[in-house]
Amino acid sequence: MIDRFEVIKGDITKQNVDAIVNAANTSLLGGGGVDGAIHRAAGPELVMECRELHGCKTSQAKITKGYKLSANWVIHTVGPVWQGGNKGEDELLATCYRNSLELAVKNGVRTIAYPSISTGAYRFPVEKAAMIAINEIKRFLETDSSIEKVLMVCFDEDTYRKYLEICGSF
Ligand code: ADP
Repeated sequence: MIDRFEVIKGDITKQNVDAIVNAANTSLLGGGGVDGAIHRAAGPELVMECRELHGCKTSQAKITKGYKLSANWVIHTVGPVWQGGNKGEDELLATCYRNSLELAVKNGVRTIAYPSISTGAYRFPVEKAAMIAINEIKRFLETDSSIEKVLMVCFDEDTYRKYLEICGSF
């Protein structure tokens, strides 16, 4: 699994992969953080397609084209807002990774990049999120052979260090 999964530091909008995952909100109409960056880089056609999707529930995933991005696809998933940990946040976050990977496979995606879902505006603790993300991706890759590469793209140094540390412990 290790050669098919990599933690890097960078900007997800710049990745040359088949699909990038967006940490969207339930409206799918754009927002701040990585969502805003993806919409800016993809151009206005992305929000036009998103409008036709009529939103997305927490932990579900929907796919659009990538427009001006190098990625052909954007897989939008909505992470849980951290509310202290007793509102099913862990399972909802794990489901985001599972659903987005399943949708990727259905669409023939072989290379995919993730941001750290929920750990920005949604305040999910980074170490806990990293554990869940890496565990789900690893479990998925153990049974799937169509995905060639999963990149975890960390935007800031602190997130990058934490994901690397957790990755090393697997
Ligand atoms: P959420 O609402 O799911 O918490 P955010 O976008 O607020 O989503 O934050 C999720 C993570 O995405 C944070 O670690 C944030 O630093 C990171 N991020 C912001 N911009 C980018 C980008 N261009 N590429 C990759 N990650 C990004």
